[in-house]
Amino acid sequence: MTRRKFLNQVAVGVAAATANTVARSAESKEEKGEVPLIVSTWPFGKASNDEALKILLGGGSLLDAVEKGIWVTESSGNGSVGLSGSPNAAGVVQLDACIMNGPDHKAGSVAGLEGIRHPISAARRVMEKTRHVLLVGEGARMFALEEGLESVELNSKERYEKWQKQRASQRAKPAEKKPDNHDTIALLVLGKDGNIAGGCSTSGLGGKLPGRVGDSPIIGSGLYVDNEVGAAGATGLGENVMRYCASFLIVEFMRQGMTPHEACVQAIRRVMRTEPKGTNLSINFVALDKQGRYGAAGTDGGFQYSVTTPGGSRVLPNPGIGTPER
Ligand code: ASP
Repeated sequence: MTRRKFLNQVAVGVAAATANTVARSAESKEEKGEVPLIVSTWPFGKASNDEALKILLGGGSLLDAVEKGIWVTESSGNGSVGLSGSPNAAGVVQLDACIMNGPDHKAGSVAGLEGIRHPISAARRVMEKTRHVLLVGEGARMFALEEGLESVELNSKERYEKWQKQRASQRAKPAEKKPDNHDTIALLVLGKDGNIAGGCSTSGLGGKLPGRVGDSPIIGSGLYVDNEVGAAGATGLGENVMRYCASFLIVEFMRQGMTPHEACVQAIRRVMRTEPKGTNLSINFVALDKQGRYGAAGTDGGFQYSVTTPGGSRVLPNPGIGTPER
C-alpha cells in the first residue's frame, strides 16, 4: 500500500468513526431524554411545569405533579382556565377538566362544572373515589362540594360585559387570527420510573352554548395516556379534535414508531384529509413518549408549548406541520 493510499484510508476511517459517534450521540439523545419530563400547552404552561417538577423533586407522585401543576394555571388569571375562565353565551363560566394515570390506565373527568376553584382536583377525585370516569354539570358540582373542594363565584356581570366588549372588538377586526379567547392547559408528565400521567383544564370556548362540552374532558380527545407508549394533549377548537379522537390517535401513531412530533403532524394531516380546504382548524397538540422524547405541532401559527426537565424550562415555538398531503 502506498503512503498516500494508507493516509486516505485512515482519513476515511476517522471520518466514518466521527460520523458514527455523532450519529450515535444524536441517536442516544433522541432515544433517551432527560427525566422527569413535563410538557404542556402554551407559554402559561411553563409555570405549571415548574410547579409539577418541584412536586416530583420533592418526592410527590405523578398525579400530585399533574394536579398541583395545573392548579397554577387555574389560579393564574390567564382568561381561559379556572378562576379566569370565559363565560358561555348565557354569561356563565362552565369548566372542563380531566386527568389520566398511566400505570393503572384510570381516568377522571368533569364537564360543565360551575363555581369550583380547581376542576382538575374534581377530575382526580372522580378517578380516585368513584366507579365513574365523567361527571357533568350539577352532579359534578355536588360531588366536588361533597369532596370538600373550594367553591368560588366565577360569574360576574362586570366580567361578562368585559368579555362581550372584547368579543365585539375582535369581531370588528376579522383579520385577527383568534376571534375568541380560548385556551387549555394540557400537561403531560414522564416520571423517573418511566410512568406517565397527564391532565387538562379549560373553560372551553368563550360564548359557547350553555352545556357545550369540548374535547378537553373527553379521554382520547383532549388527553390520552398509555403507559406503554406515551401521552398526548390538545388545545384549540375542541369540535375539530373530538371528532377524530386526536390525542388517542397521536399515541397510537407513536406506538407504531413515530416520534412525538411526527405523530402530532400525522394526526393533523389525518384531520385535514376530510376537512374542507382552507378551514381554520385551530388544532394544536403536545406529546411525549416513554423514551423521554417530546414534540408538538399545531395549525395555529402562534401556538407555543412549554417543556421542563431538571435542566430547565423552555417555551418553544410551534414547529408546524410541513406541507400537508391532502
Ligand atoms: N379545546 C378547548 C375547547 O374546545 C379550547 C382550547 O383549548 O382553546 O373547549
